[in-house]
Amino acid sequence: PLKLAEPALGVRTHCPYCAFQCGILMGEDLGGGLPRVTGDPHFPVNNGQLCIKGWTSGALLGHPQRVTCPQLRDPGGTWRDATWAEAFDFVAAKMAALRERYGPDANGVFGSGALTNEKAYLLGKFARVALGTANIDYNGRFCMSSAAAAQTRAFGIDRGLPFPVADVERAEVVMLVGANTADTLPPMMQWFDRQKAAGGRLVVADPRRTATARRADLFLQLTPGTDLALANGLLYVALEERLTDERYIAERTTGFDAVRRAVLQYHPAHVERLTGVPESQLRRAARWLATARSAMVLSGRGTEQHSKGVDSVHAWINLVLALGKVGAPNSGFGTLTGQGNGQGGREHGQKADQLPGYRLIEVDAHRAAVANVWGVEPASLPRKGKSATELLNALGSEVRGLFVMGSNVAVAAPHAERVEQGLKALDLLVVCDAFHNETSAHAHVFLPVFQWAEEDGTMTNLEGRVIRRRVVSRPPTGPLSDLEILREIADRLGCGAKFAFRDTEAVFDELRRATAGAPADYSGITYAKIDAADGVCWPCPTEDHPGTPLMFTERFHHADGRARFFAVDHRTAGEEPDAEFPLFFTTGRYKEHYNSGAQTRQVAKLHAAQPVPRLEMHPRLARRHRVVTGSRVTVESRRARVEFAAEVTADIRADTLFAPFHWGGRAAANLLTSGHLDPTSRMPEFKLTAVRIAGVRHG
Ligand code: SF4
Repeated sequence: PLKLAEPALGVRTHCPYCAFQCGILMGEDLGGGLPRVTGDPHFPVNNGQLCIKGWTSGALLGHPQRVTCPQLRDPGGTWRDATWAEAFDFVAAKMAALRERYGPDANGVFGSGALTNEKAYLLGKFARVALGTANIDYNGRFCMSSAAAAQTRAFGIDRGLPFPVADVERAEVVMLVGANTADTLPPMMQWFDRQKAAGGRLVVADPRRTATARRADLFLQLTPGTDLALANGLLYVALEERLTDERYIAERTTGFDAVRRAVLQYHPAHVERLTGVPESQLRRAARWLATARSAMVLSGRGTEQHSKGVDSVHAWINLVLALGKVGAPNSGFGTLTGQGNGQGGREHGQKADQLPGYRLIEVDAHRAAVANVWGVEPASLPRKGKSATELLNALGSEVRGLFVMGSNVAVAAPHAERVEQGLKALDLLVVCDAFHNETSAHAHVFLPVFQWAEEDGTMTNLEGRVIRRRVVSRPPTGPLSDLEILREIADRLGCGAKFAFRDTEAVFDELRRATAGAPADYSGITYAKIDAADGVCWPCPTEDHPGTPLMFTERFHHADGRARFFAVDHRTAGEEPDAEFPLFFTTGRYKEHYNSGAQTRQVAKLHAAQPVPRLEMHPRLARRHRVVTGSRVTVESRRARVEFAAEVTADIRADTLFAPFHWGGRAAANLLTSGHLDPTSRMPEFKLTAVRIAGVRHG
């Protein structure tokens, strides 16, 4: 079996949740026997601060609802405990039978941005080598994919923040677009507070006056789905007022002429009509950004989760490039990655189109490099498979078996009813997790796994900083590491030797070799090197290389070293409000919950603080429908109806409704959302659904 490090209280490790990966210390609790969590004052990203999710994360360990025994669904539909050998034999035999009967792509694999780098890497290898399927994708497709695709197109490479978080504090102007960091990354606010204390300005663009927007110097309350037009309008003003950096554009970029022509259509008066942002505010924001010595634009899911998400992000990149700010000190464009390992999780082969290190599965040289490390023939590697939503759409038809590791697709994916029907239609659904969730409700096999503080591994935070999770707590008897589960099933499929690692570090060492020479090059990063510092930023091509906290100072990752402008135009969403469905519906997060809520809904303090989703509604709209806070409001889209408790607030636009997506069942916001995808990133349009109010109940 995989060798585990000895648990040790007081070691430095990291929070199990979001991409900030706050440093935490865990000590013995004086009361209930669970480890006490405190913020690590020496980790330079959170500086000792944690949000409520981090503070309560110890409650996940030793939780009474945790599953500790493998389970098989009996013919009557109830779970029964099984031995590991029985569960592995069953899964491997079923997968082999599906492969035999329908071909290798009949088995699908669904991964997660919560998995460590080692797990993400091994899961990608498991899909391609043990199962031979092209159909592997992961929930990061719902999170980061639009920003990743736009950054790759513009810069030749995608790293969430190409500069350290600490640069925020020194930026004269920061513009946050579609990012509510006060709720999603609360310890990030300390950097904005310091930036503002030093005289800097914070601009926030969002359809909701969020907790973050309330701290802004300028708040642009745009219409959902108009981010691209807003960015082009800002660039129009910069051009009109001759504030662009023509020398930078000439020396470091290509393609600006087409952008210059395209943004001529975006006079601020026209942009005001499209976005609802007054021309005066638009002009002020453009001048602040353009005249600051240092300025950055940071994007979040609000601007990315659209069927034009890639182009929207590229519009922001065009703006920042035209101002000569990418690669300049304390400046640039970055995206605030969401999931804990949203960055590393997308680098190491869980995506349908990529192999480890961001190598592309359709490029022969890339296939050959990875095949060589895996000891297989390049021709044996599958080609590009289905992206996440398309994979879920194929459940029960082209895809007959699904192996899910660390993801709750029944809640997190759009058009949830269709996903549920797909899950029910499968011949085999295997869920690897610590707790049952809405996805495992349809599973045939449940494989219980170690939790975050019970095994080691590496994560890559939103800065591209590779850090170590360490063993703090001994796992209960029963669960196994995901790594061991993959090895056991691969063994039964005839290739166990390729998955036999003595410990997690050995998996990381193979990952290093698989990424050598790749865009996301980890080959110079070792566990010892991470231990000696507060992590190492990739790319890091040799063991004596210090890592790369700051990118693009001299060249971009395209062959000619130049960044790419790309002319983009506003276009309508997959479905816009109309006479039948006249309102925008948009989704987001509470600070108490994380993604599908599979973990945080288990934590008593978090559940008590936010037990149910609430529908935010403007007072004007509420009056029209006779709604008061607490009324039960049924929202209907073209796919479903969902009833929410109303929260009447002037912080939201009068044409927009908002609800969080952390809950499943009949309270799932994603029952309403559509399956419209960005044509490049295949990102679903979570942030814009046309809906109507179909009913109101009181009492
Ligand atoms: Fe930090 Fe994110 Fe954990 Fe909160 S959830 S403590 S912000 S890593």
